[in-house]
Amino acid sequence: MEPLDRATIWPYREGEPQELYYQRYAHPNGLAAERALGELEGGETLLFPSGTGAAAALVLGLLERGQTIALAEGGYYGTGLLFSALEGWGVRHVEFDQTGPPPDDVDLIWLEAPSNPFLTMPDLEAAVAHPARVVVDSTAATPIYLRPLDAGADFVLHSATKFLGGHHDVLLGAVACRSADDAARLRTFRSRTGIVAAPDPCWLLSRSLRTLRVRMERHTANASEIVDRLRAHPGVNLVRYPGFGGLLSFDVADGEAARRVETSLQRIKNATSLGGVESVIESRTRWEGDRVPPALLRLSVGLEDVDEVWADLAQALA
Ligand SMILES: *Cc1c(COP(=O)(O)O)cnc(C)c1O
Repeated sequence: MEPLDRATIWPYREGEPQELYYQRYAHPNGLAAERALGELEGGETLLFPSGTGAAAALVLGLLERGQTIALAEGGYYGTGLLFSALEGWGVRHVEFDQTGPPPDDVDLIWLEAPSNPFLTMPDLEAAVAHPARVVVDSTAATPIYLRPLDAGADFVLHSATKFLGGHHDVLLGAVACRSADDAARLRTFRSRTGIVAAPDPCWLLSRSLRTLRVRMERHTANASEIVDRLRAHPGVNLVRYPGFGGLLSFDVADGEAARRVETSLQRIKNATSLGGVESVIESRTRWEGDRVPPALLRLSVGLEDVDEVWADLAQALA
């Protein structure tokens, strides 16, 4: 691993600033992590202090007052909350079904692959055919399963807090850009607004990317097995899973049953977030209200022994 460097300043040489001079503009651990993730996504990548910070910087840096975002319905709840908060700055958003074509007369298309917690996949071809630029929030797919820039998207967004970080110990966001001009514009906006990631989380991301492929393969193997067993369970009405990755959701009988399942687990943590070594589960209605069925439980399957995860789920379902 490269050393962790927390310096905020580097001296000029012969009176001239070099590549590194002040941490807000660039720092070694940020550059190293951006290079590694950029290679995986196939485009210049910038890191931000959280996924939400990355989304805020992308919208504020790219759009102008009076412009409209088409947002995939059923996607990450916080993205809709962020866009609502930005209405005060004159940026509007409308929701649409991302499995079909986006609406006309929008300036930015915001997809999620797969959506969290409904696990739908976007029609990327239809979105790319639209004149507006396309952002794919690829947090749950990771570059192991999807490279949206190759498919014609303009930006890939990550909450690196999830699978990329992978250990529930780092809050971080990323944007990979198809065009160098967009990357330069976003970089300038990031330096001017100060929405920058610190060295420590960048160092943790570099560490985590080294195991991304093996972790994702194990997440998929474990989640696929859990999905098969859930689908065969009489207490489970519906299972949503795109066929890859560690994130899934399923419906039990009703809201009361969901609450009983999440509070009866002994090994799986009843907690929010996803993408870590340990499995976590939660009923999403506590955050999202009517937007999700009260019987919906979102499960992020970790890297544990799958029989132990299933044994805990089975006893809770019972
Ligand atoms: C968690 C999440 C975000 C927000 O990321 P933070 O790092 O929590 O700010 C955005 N999109 C998706 C799909 C997420 O799961």
